[in-house]
Amino acid sequence: MQGKPICPYCAWPMRRRTRSRGNVVGIIKALLVLVLGLVILVTLFWTIVGAIIGLLMIILALGMGGTRTRVWQCTNCRATFQRA
Ligand SMILES: [Zn+2]
Repeated sequence: MQGKPICPYCAWPMRRRTRSRGNVVGIIKALLVLVLGLVILVTLFWTIVGAIIGLLMIILALGMGGTRTRVWQCTNCRATFQRA
């Protein structure tokens, strides 16, 4: 077991953080896919294929938006490192 890591740059203690991997662009992309999936679902719901594609796109969008990475962040210089 390792203790609390320290920052290699400034030797400050680091803290656990959960950071969403997607930046603003990623969130917008996920929203676009979500909206597109909803449109396909609504307009093509009467076809089985349309319903399936719409649902798949909505699930995909939710997966894109919910991706999170666990990192260590320095409380001083805000450098982040991936946690195992
Ligand atoms: Zn630091």
